[in-house]
Amino acid sequence: QNAYLTPMSQTHFFPEGTLVAVLTCEPIDRSLDYKAPVGGCEVGAFVEVPLGPRKVLGCVWGAGRGGFDLSKARAVSNVLDVAPMRDEMRSFLEKVADYTLTPLAAMLRLATRAPGLMNPPSMQKVYRRGEGQPKRETEARTRVLDVLDEYGGLAFTLKELADTAGVTPSVIKGLVPQGVIFEEDTPRDLPYGRLDPAQAGKELSGPQEGAAKALRISVASQSYSTTLLKGVTGSGKTEVYLEAVAECLAQGRQALVLLPEIALTAEFLTRVEERFGAKPAEWHSGVTMTERRRVWKMVGAGGAQMVIGARSALYLPFQNLGLIVVDEEHDQSYKQEDGVLYSARDMAVLRATFCSATVVLASATPSLESWVNVEAGKYTRLDLESRFGPAVMPDMHALDLRSEKMPATRFVSDALARAVTKRIGLGEQSLLFLNRRGYAPVTICRACGHQIACDHCDARMVEHRFLKRLVCHQCGETKPMPEACPSCQVEGRLAPVGPGVERLAEEVTERFPDAKVSVLSSDLFGSARALKAAIREIAEGDTDIVIGTQLVAKGHNFPNLTLVGVIDADLGLQGSDLRAAERTFQLMRQVAGRAGRSEKKGVALLQTYQPEHPVIRAIIAGDEEGFWRAEAAERKMAGVPPYGRMAGIILSGPDLAQVMDIGNALARRAGPLQQVGAQLFGPAPAPIARVRGRHRIRLLVKAEKTAPIQRALSAWVGQIKLPGSVRLQIDIDPQSF
Ligand code: ADP
Ligand code: ZN
Repeated sequence: QNAYLTPMSQTHFFPEGTLVAVLTCEPIDRSLDYKAPVGGCEVGAFVEVPLGPRKVLGCVWGAGRGGFDLSKARAVSNVLDVAPMRDEMRSFLEKVADYTLTPLAAMLRLATRAPGLMNPPSMQKVYRRGEGQPKRETEARTRVLDVLDEYGGLAFTLKELADTAGVTPSVIKGLVPQGVIFEEDTPRDLPYGRLDPAQAGKELSGPQEGAAKALRISVASQSYSTTLLKGVTGSGKTEVYLEAVAECLAQGRQALVLLPEIALTAEFLTRVEERFGAKPAEWHSGVTMTERRRVWKMVGAGGAQMVIGARSALYLPFQNLGLIVVDEEHDQSYKQEDGVLYSARDMAVLRATFCSATVVLASATPSLESWVNVEAGKYTRLDLESRFGPAVMPDMHALDLRSEKMPATRFVSDALARAVTKRIGLGEQSLLFLNRRGYAPVTICRACGHQIACDHCDARMVEHRFLKRLVCHQCGETKPMPEACPSCQVEGRLAPVGPGVERLAEEVTERFPDAKVSVLSSDLFGSARALKAAIREIAEGDTDIVIGTQLVAKGHNFPNLTLVGVIDADLGLQGSDLRAAERTFQLMRQVAGRAGRSEKKGVALLQTYQPEHPVIRAIIAGDEEGFWRAEAAERKMAGVPPYGRMAGIILSGPDLAQVMDIGNALARRAGPLQQVGAQLFGPAPAPIARVRGRHRIRLLVKAEKTAPIQRALSAWVGQIKLPGSVRLQIDIDPQSF
């Protein structure tokens, strides 16, 4: 049996009949009073309560307020058989609700995002080793017993055991009557296999050892701290933080590792299994409903020592969370852009302060926020200077496109083409990076100049020749590629403008007819499995040229890749987004880091029309500290994050004039904002100005870091009553501003 962690004792208990305040996931902005059920209930208990004609899930938040006729109070129907929410979790949810101006009910919804919590535990048959010996040995039977012996005492479902042993279920069933295997009924939600922190990891290099030791000390102290673990991709950060996980498990506490991409979890699970002898629990959108319920319950019961997940895993009911790792902490996907708006990185830090845990933020290219927090002494910083083993960062050069005189239909300069040819001759791989899916970003009519735009957004439609369709990258709308211009009806004059990866692939195939070319773009693969297979084939196979989007920038290891060509290094620098420089810097360094991951030194060539641009120069020079210092100084001057506080208020609705009227009305009543010294900008079209037929406008609020902005915002937007068709969303710390 798995050793469950001992839950801390809960202090507040409500005897039968006393009034308790129950928070439900329903959109009511306060808790409701109920009578505690027979047997009473603890604070934090998950309960089922009547709400109108329905029964809904709720959580006992504290003592009821009363003040009404007690005989009218309804009683809690049922206390669920799951661990109560801990005090620290309640405080955490309240804090996040306050900070992001989200109703507490919405926070509870986030924290109970597991289906079937209200259902009684269903049973299933499990199988474990018995005393007897099989009457007749067969190869299949031996395999089954080997698996059971290897995992000592662990119970398997029929499918798990059959799959692990590689036999049909009938082989297992056949061993039951002989007493070789026990069959028993247990609740469906089984604990996870035991992770053994004492199992030896890889032998660490000197720098790794130093970093691992520092992290072990932090974890062992069982107090809050945050460490930025910085090191280029391949420097062995994962090995280092797995040591912190080992320490955490040895302390009997739970560990959470957040990854930005589901695609990366499979590889990571294998690594954890190699290191600790069992797989951790997984929590992300790809996990089945039944499995989600199991994870949720086992995390709460202590039957899951470690969870690997997406940002929402922060809201799992950990009983004793000792470590949170945020891998690729700079990644934009950590900012949730729908539902509750929060940055998982910041929330991880907040969560850790409530449960005295260690936070490790790992990245090759940390966010400016984290760098500033290190400089301010709030975070500790650990550096892994070089790559693990012999590999080093590639040499970087700019290719000045102004001197190349390229025709508008060509995207690979002659200089870059020569470099590719050279690699092919050496039997090495090249990566051509272009962060644009599809064939061409713009389709224009040569007869009338019309550009095909989405009917639902303000975005231009992107031609995907592979799919033979136009796709809106903003809202996902697609339509067939028309023969005639939708505006002037002239046929045969529609032409692509600019490159997407598909068009780049066309040029490359034409110019390198004998080369084997692979295109890695998320839309070209039906499933994560197909993508993984393609990545493996590139890593092991004879691909000469890889053409890829952002997808390739993350985490994959191509040992034979020695050249990276960035088709358009200027792409991310356009537009008014103040984070553009930071993002371009990070992305370029990550892509360049794909080259030379083994013994062979790599080269990265950046095609650019502005080689003098300070960001491009900093990338080429590899001057990270210089870049950050300059960027931080600029943000400080402008009073924007992380030095100032910003909030975006997005109003959306089907009628632009109506939305705009409300925006203007809000702007006219900015008194509550002025009281805290905040400035108001807008209303202006939001960064995504139209989605699925809804117009979106944005007001931006900028304030000093210490201003009580939440209170001011509530008072300010509270002045206006919104019509039903208009939605208001507050985004504290918006990604773009
Ligand atoms: P990062 O997380 O910084 O990208 P990883 O921890 O994934 O780096 O390490 C990169 C590669 O080097 C992995 O294949 C890993 O197994 C290997 N590696 C890292 N450290 C060691 C070590 N001490 N001994 C052997 N292999 C190592
Ligand atoms: Zn659209």
